Amino acid sequence: ALINWFMVAQLGHHFLLERLQDGDIALDGTMGNGHDTLMLAEAVGSQGKIYAFDVQTQALTNTRERLAAANLLDERIKLIQDGHQNIYQHVKQPIQGAIFNLGYLPGSDKELITQTNTTLEALQQTLHLLAVGGRLVIVVYPGHPGGQEEKEAIENMASQLNPSQYKVLKINLFNRPPSAPGVILIEKVVDIA
Ligand code: SAM
Repeated sequence: ALINWFMVAQLGHHFLLERLQDGDIALDGTMGNGHDTLMLAEAVGSQGKIYAFDVQTQALTNTRERLAAANLLDERIKLIQDGHQNIYQHVKQPIQGAIFNLGYLPGSDKELITQTNTTLEALQQTLHLLAVGGRLVIVVYPGHPGGQEEKEAIENMASQLNPSQYKVLKINLFNRPPSAPGVILIEKVVDIA
């Protein structure tokens, strides 16, 4: 399972790293153990800014430790203990990149799983906040309870995005069962307010 997760995670990171530059603003919708937050923090450099969300104290603790070990624990990196459905309350600026790695925190409370409705709300807010040229990565895990429903709802939303405003790409592990993780890559090409 690790190799599957690793492949989709790498693709998502590559898609963002290709876009993000020093001084950019980026968002991690699901902080977890902080792997994605660290990647974003490195990508936006010493002038950039990160907003990272999670509902679990453990996620903030683990992410803080990871950032500290990389010498990146800085006030520019906002670790916010709140649901990503409340992004608008915390983020008021356009962002150049965002990532959502859905599901539950590995090795932690499986009750604290992302939920279809709040995930969709968070993704809508993120899409609005994206600057032109900004990119959003969503990693979905249909293998756990509720994961398939969440994946279908996201794909339904993404498939209906206005093609003159967004480019949308869906990647699956083709020779794996449908329960394997997948990734959706979105780029905003025109901002229609
Ligand atoms: N990106 C993480 C990493 O690099 O380690 C992995 C994220 S993990 C798969 C999913 C995380 O989403 C969990 O830590 C969980 O607590 C968090 N989560 C669940 N519901 C949430 C919500 N409404 N808002 C923000 N985070 C949420």
